[in-house]
Amino acid sequence: MTIYGDNYGDQLRMERQERLREDAQERYKENNQGADIFSLQQDVERLLLITEGLWSFIKRHHGYKDKDLYEVVNAIDARDGQIDGKLAKTNTPEKCPECGRTLPRRKPFCSYCGTKVVRGCFDR
Ligand SMILES: [Zn+2]
Repeated sequence: MTIYGDNYGDQLRMERQERLREDAQERYKENNQGADIFSLQQDVERLLLITEGLWSFIKRHHGYKDKDLYEVVNAIDARDGQIDGKLAKTNTPEKCPECGRTLPRRKPFCSYCGTKVVRGCFDR
């Protein structure tokens, strides 16, 4: 066996191992995406149950009708100027009311001056 033959064999083994590793990574990624989708579906189902329960409660105890809900939902949908069944995205970064610097998303305090950030309960 020549040194070229050994190197060629090593090269083939390395390429085969690389392909196996890439295949394994791809399968791992696909499985995790499936788990993420399943988890999201469960979250959506749970939110639908809670929403329907809340709406049933409000109708029964406060006398609202479905048309009242449609009007409110459409008004919220139209905030961004189009009725498309989606909430408007808020991409504008918030500024700290105390120091005026850009606030990090989802942090309860300003990173620069420590001011407590008060956000709306539906802010995303
Ligand atoms: Zn600040």
